[in-house]
Amino acid sequence: MEFGMTDEIVALRRQMRELIAAHVTPSELEKAHETGTNICLPLYRAMGEAGLIRRAVPGVGKGDPLELFTITNELEKAAAPFDAISMVIQLSAVISRVGSQQLQDEVLPRLMTGESLVCFGMTEADAGSDLAAVQTRAERDGDDWIINGSKVWTTMAHVAEWAFMFTRSGERGDGRAGYTTFFIPMDTPGIRIEPIWTMSTERSNTTFFDDVRVPARYVLGEVDQGWKTLSVMLSFERGMGNTAGGIPLLRRFADWAKQSGAIDDPLVRDEMARVAIDNEVSRLLTQRTVWRAAQGELAGVEGSIAKVFATEAYQRAARTFQAAAGPAGTLGFGEPDAAAGGWIDHDARHSIPQTFQGGTSEINRNNIAERHLGLPRTR
Ligand SMILES: Cc1cc2nc3c(=O)[nH]c(=O)nc-3n(C[C@H](O)[C@H](O)[C@H](O)COP(=O)(O)OP(=O)(O)OC[C@H]3O[C@@H](n4cnc5c(N)ncnc54)[C@H](O)[C@@H]3O)c2cc1C
Repeated sequence: MEFGMTDEIVALRRQMRELIAAHVTPSELEKAHETGTNICLPLYRAMGEAGLIRRAVPGVGKGDPLELFTITNELEKAAAPFDAISMVIQLSAVISRVGSQQLQDEVLPRLMTGESLVCFGMTEADAGSDLAAVQTRAERDGDDWIINGSKVWTTMAHVAEWAFMFTRSGERGDGRAGYTTFFIPMDTPGIRIEPIWTMSTERSNTTFFDDVRVPARYVLGEVDQGWKTLSVMLSFERGMGNTAGGIPLLRRFADWAKQSGAIDDPLVRDEMARVAIDNEVSRLLTQRTVWRAAQGELAGVEGSIAKVFATEAYQRAARTFQAAAGPAGTLGFGEPDAAAGGWIDHDARHSIPQTFQGGTSEINRNNIAERHLGLPRTR
């Protein structure tokens, strides 16, 4: 059995590293931190130009699991602004799987160039884990649909050209049949965006939809069968990325520990070894999820397993390193004496929402218990 990477993957990895080195400049990172908007448009455009976004999207690219993994993993390992492009990759996969040919033709070419960003409009004030409770309504009006309601935590809405929208289109009591998903242009009249500033350094948004009229071609999947589209979306959302936060954290902490002398403490070295092991487990679980997705399969359970393990391990690592760094670990970017230039403080805060955005650890554990272990439903 051959465990090494093929020449093609080695070349892809090199290409990603070169693009990241060229485009993720200190000023791009500073901009991302200042605005709380984790994007790097020059990098995404360069990736688009080189055909790398297309290669990463399951169902659009070659379907080689290692291509998707290599592209997303290189971004994460380098701590390059990753969130926006990973959302593009996920939604492109959904559109290519369930979108009409007309929608695919209109939207996919723009997403593949890295010019166009997307946002996810699922969560509402009273509908987070329980998405069945969404109140945002879509009503048919001739050839159009009219959307009314509001969403919270619509991250990237302020820079997105398109929104994935999960709406109620039927009556209560229709069970899972009364929902419809849309992929709508964000410049449609009637959409308003307000920022939410979070402790995790990230800007998110509340979005309001007042009589937003969209043509029927923006329905994603089948009318009233939005739950099926949502399942596809969630299976691509979990565990394929955002699972390698511990890698740049360990690298930066190790550099700081060497400089500060903390590395001489055997307990600190012990913790670093534990984080390295967790990082390796996260990598293997992510590779398994990516493998399933790249085969065109839904990797729901594998994704939940990877997400729970990797995000909780990242959070543990960040807290441990913050404690080990002492007061310097609580100082942020730009503050003198900040441990690892402020990255320890950043990761201690950034790692908090990772365990609940994209589905909380509890919800993912329910998923694993019911679908993987065959345990009875408790609700
Ligand atoms: C920074 C950030 C960015 C986000 N970005 C987006 C985005 O771009 N688009 C989007 O649509 N959403 C986004 N979200 C929303 C995120 O997906 C939700 O926060 C998450 O799904 C949880 O929903 P909730 O906050 O309403 O919590 P709730 O659902 O109210 O949960 C509260 C607590 O109860 C627990 N709980 C709830 N139900 C159960 C159950 N059945 N069994 C066991 N425990 C349960 C939860 O695990 C949690 O601990 C973002 C959130 C954050 C914080």
